Amino acid sequence: MNVRNCRFLKPFGINGIVLYPFVLFADKHPSEDVVCHEQVHLDQIKRDGVLGFYTRYLKEYFAGRRMGMTHDQAYRNISYEKEAYSADVAELRRRRSMI
Ligand SMILES: [Zn+2]
Repeated sequence: MNVRNCRFLKPFGINGIVLYPFVLFADKHPSEDVVCHEQVHLDQIKRDGVLGFYTRYLKEYFAGRRMGMTHDQAYRNISYEKEAYSADVAELRRRRSMI
């Protein structure tokens, strides 16, 4: 994980974000949940490709907005986010220890 610290994320309510190949965290010492969440996104990018990931991510977000969802609703409705939020932290911890 190519990690960077970015203090400009916090005012936007963002704890972490993958701007491939970088992972930016608002905190110098992010929680394990936040790290695992971003790890899932890295795995998704590896699985679907950089272009495939960002294209589908933005398509689903804007589709949600067009349907009248709020920003938060559209964000939570993105399939990649659903997968990342439902990820099993213990399983991710095990996989990371194998790398
Ligand atoms: Zn996410």
